[in-house]
Amino acid sequence: MILMSGAEVAKSLEQRLQEEVEDLRKRGCQPTLAVLLVGDNPASQSYVRAKLKTAERIGIQARHYELPQSAQQAELLARVRELNVDRQVHGILCQLPLPAHLNADEAVQQIAPLKDVDGLTAANMGLLALGTPRFIPCTPAGILEMLRFYKLPVAGKTAVVIGRSNIVGRPVSILLSQRDWNATVMLCHSKSLQLAEWTRRADLLVAAVGIPEFVTGDMVREGAVVVDVGINRVTDPGRPKGYRICGDVNHRQVAPKCLAITPVPGGVGPMTVTMLMVNTVQAARLQQGLAP
Ligand code: NAD
Repeated sequence: MILMSGAEVAKSLEQRLQEEVEDLRKRGCQPTLAVLLVGDNPASQSYVRAKLKTAERIGIQARHYELPQSAQQAELLARVRELNVDRQVHGILCQLPLPAHLNADEAVQQIAPLKDVDGLTAANMGLLALGTPRFIPCTPAGILEMLRFYKLPVAGKTAVVIGRSNIVGRPVSILLSQRDWNATVMLCHSKSLQLAEWTRRADLLVAAVGIPEFVTGDMVREGAVVVDVGINRVTDPGRPKGYRICGDVNHRQVAPKCLAITPVPGGVGPMTVTMLMVNTVQAARLQQGLAP
């Protein structure tokens, strides 16, 4: 069984990224990412910290903008517009989820498509759906990069994706069905009936549900490749922080059946951060006229 290590794949990409950043710097361009965080969601704060740290390691300048929990939509939109026209900023990331009173969709759609390093604007989603992506959303991009790194079989195989969010499930299902990957794709969601009947047919199973250990051993066929996207905090008084992180897959039951599986933590999570850096460098190259 192959344990797909996000850290290992990320490391192999980081070296290339450092060289690309160095090349851009020599041309007088310092790749810069603006990260917008609204409110005090602890998980969001920890994701933002990880992004800032990785950017620094690679040589990408990260600017961190914080708005209070009480921030109003107009304030958020004004900040996005400001960053859109700031020529020093190549990528803009609005950390999701936003506090419930804010309209996340409106804020994300406000980001200039050439700076939309999360790939979530209508323009970038449209390009992705057409098979000519500009920025692939970071988590789907990370998943594909891991499959590529470990040379796992995808072409002609049956892929089942659980979850249809714009950020993970839907784009990953579109990408896997396209010419580069050539999988036969089934997209399942909360209204799917007899889910286990579909998942048991999967050569490649991607779980992006947000329910701890949702995928159990009986839902997976022998020899499947399983990508566990979930990052769930489960209360655990035995742990120093009072919680533990677990995925959407019951790893203990599922791993022994797999050809390959991603761990949580240490699987898709680190890749998501690294692919944000890949997209930021791509954004800087695009804005320098160095990329198609
Ligand atoms: P989401 O809540 O937006 O979407 C969840 C999806 O799961 C929905 O489409 C829903 O239809 C489906 N679903 C819910 N209950 C179901 C059920 N009983 N049967 C079948 N489908 C069901 O979540 P998301 O943003 O896509 O995130 C999913 C998980 O991935 C979360 O745990 C999140 O924390 C994690 N995540 C991880 C990364 C990473 O970097 N590893 C990035 C993004 C999200």
